[in-house]
Amino acid sequence: MSGPSPPDADPEPAADVDPTAAFELLADPTRFAILAAIAESSEDEYRGTLSFSELRERAGVADSGQFNYHLDRLVGPFVRRTDGGYGLRHAGRIAYRLAVSGLLADHDAVDVAALDAPCHVCGGRLAATYEGDRLRVGCRDCDRRVAVGPFPPRALTAHPPAALLRAVDRYLAGITIRAAANVCPWCGSPMAASLDPAGEDWPGVEVVVDNRCDRCHGFVVTRVHDLIRYHPAVVAFCYEHGVDAVQSTVWDLERELAGLTVARDGDDAWAARATLTLEGDVLELGLPASARVGEIAVLEE
Ligand SMILES: [Zn+2]
Ligand SMILES: [Zn+2]
Repeated sequence: MSGPSPPDADPEPAADVDPTAAFELLADPTRFAILAAIAESSEDEYRGTLSFSELRERAGVADSGQFNYHLDRLVGPFVRRTDGGYGLRHAGRIAYRLAVSGLLADHDAVDVAALDAPCHVCGGRLAATYEGDRLRVGCRDCDRRVAVGPFPPRALTAHPPAALLRAVDRYLAGITIRAAANVCPWCGSPMAASLDPAGEDWPGVEVVVDNRCDRCHGFVVTRVHDLIRYHPAVVAFCYEHGVDAVQSTVWDLERELAGLTVARDGDDAWAARATLTLEGDVLELGLPASARVGEIAVLEE
């Protein structure tokens, strides 16, 4: 089996656009109305491409000359002109989605939900809270954090309450899956990862996986659970013991893998050893300094 062949030569780098000049283009209500009109047309028969007159009508601009001026400014960074009309470039979609996500304003602190599962460390209550633009699942009693990450505030009320925490978990899982696969969730560049000693904001945790992107300075810090859960030996071992390593929420998985210990190991090829015990059976893994799933070794099964 062969994969796609690499390009013969480096692709042309993208043309540099001054970001302040590009963002300035959006500082006008008519232009934002144009972006919104195209974005919202993707739901209907226009499939995200509108003719000049259709776009003007949808954007609600009566003066054709004024409309033409504003539309012309957007063509390039945010809008693409094709034979079929005007469509959004990906940057235009990102700008529109940022606006409708609610992420441009801080959200008041709210209690989102109490979780069914108890804290496996202290037996206390796990709860989800939201503040600013981040959702945190943690223990109210020992103050341990289980998961923290960005979540668009308008999505808090978009899901039925019973489905919200699952949605948050999958949203964050999408971020950690990409980071674990060496792909920055935000800009697509490679991420460098390392196994680091956990700081004091991770009480009771020895080692964390620190993924960093040099391009956009994105970062994803996870527990070792989120590194090993996608290794096929772990998936199979968990499955044999009734645990779904791939689909479980972060908080269910950490409780189910409460028998996981991680020890840093300076003496041999491995940066750390992870020992997973389920129902008396043991799976021992060697974790590489690169903290990459594909380089994890099964040491004992
Ligand atoms: Zn606790
Ligand atoms: Zn990045």
